[in-house]
Amino acid sequence: MLEAFIHSPRVAYFSMEIALRNEIPTYAGGLGVLAGDMVRSAADLMLPMVAISLVSRAGYFKQRIDEQGNQLELPDYWLPELWAKPLDAKVAVTIEGRSVWISAWLFLVEGLSGGKQPVLLLDTDLNENSAEDRELTHYLYGGDATYRLKQEIVLGIGGVRLLQALGFSIFHYHMNEGHSAFLGVELLRRHAYPLNELRAGEPHYDIPRVREMCSFTTHTPVEAGHDRFDYALVNRIFDNTFDMLTIRSLAGDDALNMTRLALNLSEYVNGVAKSHAEVSNKMFPGYQVHAITNGVHPFTWAAESFRELYTEHIPGWHHEPELLTRAECCISDEAIRVAHQQAKIKLIEQIVDLTGVKFDLNIPILAFARRMTAYKRPDMLFSDIERLKAIAQKYPFQILMSGKAHPSDAGGKSLIAELHSNAKRLQGIIPSVYLPDYNLAIAHGIVSGSDVWLNTPLRPYEASGTSGMKAALNGVPSLSVLDGWWVEGCMEGITGWAIGSMFSTNGSDTIDLYTKLEQVVLPLYYHQDVSGWTKVMKNAISKNASYFNSHRMMRRYLIEAYTR
Ligand SMILES: *Cc1c(COP(=O)(O)O)cnc(C)c1O
Repeated sequence: MLEAFIHSPRVAYFSMEIALRNEIPTYAGGLGVLAGDMVRSAADLMLPMVAISLVSRAGYFKQRIDEQGNQLELPDYWLPELWAKPLDAKVAVTIEGRSVWISAWLFLVEGLSGGKQPVLLLDTDLNENSAEDRELTHYLYGGDATYRLKQEIVLGIGGVRLLQALGFSIFHYHMNEGHSAFLGVELLRRHAYPLNELRAGEPHYDIPRVREMCSFTTHTPVEAGHDRFDYALVNRIFDNTFDMLTIRSLAGDDALNMTRLALNLSEYVNGVAKSHAEVSNKMFPGYQVHAITNGVHPFTWAAESFRELYTEHIPGWHHEPELLTRAECCISDEAIRVAHQQAKIKLIEQIVDLTGVKFDLNIPILAFARRMTAYKRPDMLFSDIERLKAIAQKYPFQILMSGKAHPSDAGGKSLIAELHSNAKRLQGIIPSVYLPDYNLAIAHGIVSGSDVWLNTPLRPYEASGTSGMKAALNGVPSLSVLDGWWVEGCMEGITGWAIGSMFSTNGSDTIDLYTKLEQVVLPLYYHQDVSGWTKVMKNAISKNASYFNSHRMMRRYLIEAYTR
């Protein structure tokens, strides 16, 4: 089954989550969607990769929202046997002094021109393991610190061992976020100096050799996004045949910091946008953080109507998305408007199916969909309800929201409840709905069928953001705070609009949002000459989508990180 993949060296891409398809809930949000897009691009470009993740049999969670706007979290079980093939190999890792066995499922990502990429989904749900250990690969981001530490041992150490057991030859390892940094520890073991050659005070391992083989992408400046484990816990759980002094020297003295560990074991470190690399360089003095800005997979994220349009006018676009620069002159305004209308009709049907509410095709849809958490400020649009109503009286619009809050993020959950009650208060004045259970299918509908993509993060916490790129690919412009990718993507009034400036404070964003909506964005939408709005749509495609795609990202990783 693996013959085609093990005869030549590959890059191993490790990620705690990965979005393979809507039916497979092994992702929580942006990080997993990016991992999926990365592998889809590698398949299209026929680059030698293999992705390693967890099988997450109970998924992240299925979101229900009750009448009061409370988020309810249900397990989201899926059956690996329906989508993936079991592999024979088994390896063990030591956890709490016992062996935990790991096997894997093979999922194949198929590219558009026949390329294939193997994805290995690690699974501890085996007869050999205790009931407790069998659940280690069930819940994505579930459980406590102990559970997380065990999962990260399975991913990092188990992943490297399994690749070897399956016969893969790996020339480079990529850690997608710090969760997989233990892979570097396993590589250290492989590159340990013979015991009889060790001298007191000298390292036990060939650290420079391991660093050469590894790259690390950091994804967030938010502190909670960086795993830290108490050494008391680590000493209890971790395999005691590793030299803990070395690990401490690499991962921090006060706690085992997975980001530190990844930074110290990777020669190439990447941030996910230029501004994020700058922030990361300040967060981690002494390290050089590069910037290969994120991108999205072009074919996956284009609506059916835009796929057809591009294929007709820009053949080869999904292999060379840079060709989308031609959208500006090669596609007529009318054709762009028709394609968008088709996507919008589909979205409106999707909304009716999910909520029973029917949006109006002729009124613009303002969309806000992403993980619900405080720094994304989903409540900003509603901070002055009277002002919002006044704007809607002049220029009617509809509001579409969606997103999950992490089960332990109380702030995020109360924001969902708040949005829910705002939507109720606006009933009859501004049609507003909250779509439950944000996932790939819902995202696909919203990014292509809405009219304005709204994003209001607190600077500098939006490392990149990718949903605005998906929108751009469908000619949907962003109205966004200048953070993450939008610092690079925004040309004011050309590809979309900024909320605030690079120099304004977070506090003035709200006023700016209302002003821009009322004086610039909505007047342009409603202008009797529709060509102004269509021009912005086209520029979103030709100037943003042509660049912010995962093909470019993948090629750059190959050249700048993997084969440096
Ligand atoms: C793209 C995507 C995200 C990430 O969106 P951001 O703009 O980066 O926050 C999260 N969830 C789903 C389902 C997505 O498709």
